[in-house]
Amino acid sequence: MKHFSVQHSLAELGQPFSTACLPTPVAAPQWLAFNVELATQLRLPEQYWRSDEGLAVFSGNVVADWANPVAHAYAGHQFGHFVPQLGDGRALLLAEVIAIDEQRYDIQLKGAGRTPYSRGGDGRAPLGPVLREYLVSEAMYALGVPTTRALAAVLTGDWLQRDTAEPGAIITRIAKSHIRIGSFQFIAAKGDIAQLKTFADYVIKRHYPESAAAENPYLTLLTSVITAQAQLIAKWMSIGFIHGVMNTDNMSIAGETIDYGPCAFMDAFNPAQVYSYIDRQGRYAWGNQPKMASWNLTRFAETLLPLLSAEPEQAIELATAALLQFNAENEAAFLQLMGEKIGLKSATKDDEVLIRDLLNLMSANSTDFSQTFRLLSLSVANTTQGAAQLFADSSNWQQWANRWQTRLATQGLALNEVQQQMDATNPALIPRNHQIAKAIELANTEGDLSLFNRLHKALQTPFTLSGENADLAQPPMPEQCISNTFC
Ligand code: AMP
Ligand code: MG
Ligand code: MG
Repeated sequence: MKHFSVQHSLAELGQPFSTACLPTPVAAPQWLAFNVELATQLRLPEQYWRSDEGLAVFSGNVVADWANPVAHAYAGHQFGHFVPQLGDGRALLLAEVIAIDEQRYDIQLKGAGRTPYSRGGDGRAPLGPVLREYLVSEAMYALGVPTTRALAAVLTGDWLQRDTAEPGAIITRIAKSHIRIGSFQFIAAKGDIAQLKTFADYVIKRHYPESAAAENPYLTLLTSVITAQAQLIAKWMSIGFIHGVMNTDNMSIAGETIDYGPCAFMDAFNPAQVYSYIDRQGRYAWGNQPKMASWNLTRFAETLLPLLSAEPEQAIELATAALLQFNAENEAAFLQLMGEKIGLKSATKDDEVLIRDLLNLMSANSTDFSQTFRLLSLSVANTTQGAAQLFADSSNWQQWANRWQTRLATQGLALNEVQQQMDATNPALIPRNHQIAKAIELANTEGDLSLFNRLHKALQTPFTLSGENADLAQPPMPEQCISNTFC
């Protein structure tokens, strides 16, 4: 096995892109979770695996000899309002490693203390949000959605003052990078085009190296990010995921899901669904996510204008044409994914109505999003079975199901083939809000991680459900419904 291979390319860019900063020691660290599979992929030496040495490093009490901690500077539009300086207020990039797949990944502590970008904050993370991020990011990975991952979680032994006192924790997050649209906004707002070019060249080399050879590398950077985000948002939509805080500082240039705050998977289908307690206007509701991503990408394009062309009008023309691609790419990806969910190998434009009508029926009957699609494979052979039971409105269901059957028949596939493909696409298990809330409550009040551990294990194989985990697949009872998530 090759050695743990460490680099510090962002740290080496220096100011104003990042600032060196040490983690603040904590009182009494304890392990919460450690991801052996991911540690193996990163070639992290075994001496750090759930050991005392690892605990010291992943709690920030010791800076490993391979680490060079820096906080990254970024800006961002928060709920539509521009803030010229945000930055890693509680996160520290320890190092970049070249993993087994020969890709480079950031190792970042989140909750490791104050940084030069902390503003009024304490630089810390409460246990609940750390457990949520650990569970949901790893579940997203298992669902095949590009995402940051969780390597480790530790309790700090310190208490944090929030609405009530909460235990402090630190999550170690792995990402292709933590560079965001907001990173570009921070540099662009300074108006120094040489710095902007340095940063854009760095990002091209790191994430989209094929763009370097393009006729206009910065335009290709823009279109590459647009494509990555168009695909990502379609995946979110297809599994009922609501990010909750799609601010420009929370949108990754590498196209990964990043910053798990008040995120949630939808239970009963409602396109206007919001869970985040900060999103009172529904800006980041499930059905608004493509529009918001497009808005954010427009902010990204604006930062690149001086690099797109020396001729301002031409730069705007190029950016506008590139941005128009977002909707087309996102809609095509969504159509393909939703088609697969109803058993179509390759959905066409004509299938849009069929899919939209099912979604309308689901929202009219408030059926559970994940359960409806999972049960649909049982309706393939007999439309009075499976998902049928979820629709109080049985005649409308029957009408839809008849159209669906007619369309399925045109594929000329065996029924069991269609069913198998659907079961490999529609998860039996998602990280349900009410289960996460219960796991957090048990951890917070009794130091009991049993439900957290059980959820984590079950969510590693979301497309197969064993009998012992049947309860975890169930939608919430009315009294179990969570309407607000906090970060
Ligand atoms: P978020 O809403 O998680 O994307 O965070 C927005 C900004 O607030 C980022 O710059 C964070 O680093 C910063 N931030 C969030 N929580 C804290 C905290 N407890 N202490 C310092 N900065 C924080
Ligand atoms: Mg953030
Ligand atoms: Mg956050």
